[in-house]
Amino acid sequence: MSRRKKIYEGKAKILYEGPEPGTLVQYFKDDATAYNAEKKAVIDGKGALNNRLSEFFMQGLTAIGVPNHFIRRLNMREQLIRQVEIIPLEVIVRNYAAGSICKRLGLEEGMHLPRPIIEFCYKDDALGDPLVSEEHIIAFGWASQQDLDDMVALALRVNDFLSGVMLAVGIRLVDFKIEIGRIWDGDFHRLIVADEISPDSCRLWDLETGRKLDKDVFRRDLGDLADAYTEVARRLGVLPKNGLGESPKPRLVN
Ligand code: UDP
Repeated sequence: MSRRKKIYEGKAKILYEGPEPGTLVQYFKDDATAYNAEKKAVIDGKGALNNRLSEFFMQGLTAIGVPNHFIRRLNMREQLIRQVEIIPLEVIVRNYAAGSICKRLGLEEGMHLPRPIIEFCYKDDALGDPLVSEEHIIAFGWASQQDLDDMVALALRVNDFLSGVMLAVGIRLVDFKIEIGRIWDGDFHRLIVADEISPDSCRLWDLETGRKLDKDVFRRDLGDLADAYTEVARRLGVLPKNGLGESPKPRLVN
């Protein structure tokens, strides 16, 4: 693995050169970070869970015709993806109030929003990923008006899909973040969903108890993060019954 060319290393994932042009290998680390990496930990099993969950969501999106970067899972921690030119924006979709919108607008956590609200943040760790308006995005050339319209349409389709999938297993999709990339074909490009979709980038609350099943468990010290992610994977039928142990212990047979 170390002989492969590393293209990029982020907080939770590493991208390596792929086997063919236009592909990358996405490796999911066990590292968890929050508050712009002020809080850090290694959570055993998180990488393998997010690899499986992102595979599950991306395959579901493919099945309903929402273009995305996923090609196939390679192993426990890695998947083959299409290389894209990432648009430097985090696209956030909110169905219920939580996190930064509560602080910003003084909303009560859990308030059902009148309609899904889309926000854009400029991806820049040094600036703390600030919220930006469509005016900023166009004026600074991060995306065109057509890209913006396409991003909104993609984000709403992802929201409908994810909300439905989660509702079916008793989980409320409170909000989530996606990243979107460009695929070039000559002078033309189209947009596809990239990065990952996992409990690291969603807020997921149990419908009945309100139990948090996402990265807020880590942010707010609410318990074991791997347990929460395992619960999401189990409900979605993504986990083998005996879990995701790296290698099952040998069993003595008579
Ligand atoms: N989010 C993310 N990465 C970020 C910022 C936010 O995945 O860098 C996700 C976060 O997990 C939540 C949604 O986007 O599901 C909205 O996050 P919010 O703006 O409330 O920020 P937070 O309170 O997490 O700082």
